[in-house]
Amino acid sequence: MEQFGELEAYGREVAGCTRCRLSQGRTQVVFGSGSPHADLMFVGEAPGFHEDKQGLPFVGQAGKLLEKLLAGIGLQRSDVYIANVLKCRPPGNRDPQPDEIEACESHLFRQIELIEPTVIATLGNFATKLLSGRPLGITRVHGQEQPTTLAGRRVLLYPLYHPAAALYTPAMLKVLESDFARIPSLIGSVMPEVAEPEPAPELTLVGPPAVPAEQLGLF
Ligand code: SF4
Repeated sequence: MEQFGELEAYGREVAGCTRCRLSQGRTQVVFGSGSPHADLMFVGEAPGFHEDKQGLPFVGQAGKLLEKLLAGIGLQRSDVYIANVLKCRPPGNRDPQPDEIEACESHLFRQIELIEPTVIATLGNFATKLLSGRPLGITRVHGQEQPTTLAGRRVLLYPLYHPAAALYTPAMLKVLESDFARIPSLIGSVMPEVAEPEPAPELTLVGPPAVPAEQLGLF
């Protein structure tokens, strides 16, 4: 509940963001939507025309395809969290610019920190390059899970083709479907890093120790 509240409060804060030029042409900030404690999070590129109007990510044709792919693995939108690298629509749906990504990335990292997903599926080149920290394109890395640390947590990064790119390319759609089919087996395969409890000292001390513990080199 607290997690939900914090994410919602952060969304309200980001709604007024003017950190980059995209604030000037947007209808509204498209923060993200879905379960605030989802195990599976999707990260796309940026809002398009329909997303900008409705304030929700992936609501156009690409969104319909994403929903269909989710249904294929027994999930619906409310089971996952969907966000984008950029929260505001670039004019004419042009590519995100490096300075816009840099200005906006802390919003995404904060979302990851609050949602604590196990698997993050990056959709397309921009999300994949940003979150993997590597310049390799999606054609090279799609379908290859990569354990990584994001926002201080171990997660499994899973690069996928962007549904918008797969919409009109049947061969790409086939690959996307087959990569998607592996998602259920990946969910839960990475546990969050939990601090290991201190091992119990082997000495059994009865009564107050004759020598202070720190002098025994136990701690
Ligand atoms: S794209 Fe991101 S950084 Fe730029 S104004 Fe929108 S929310 Fe702020």
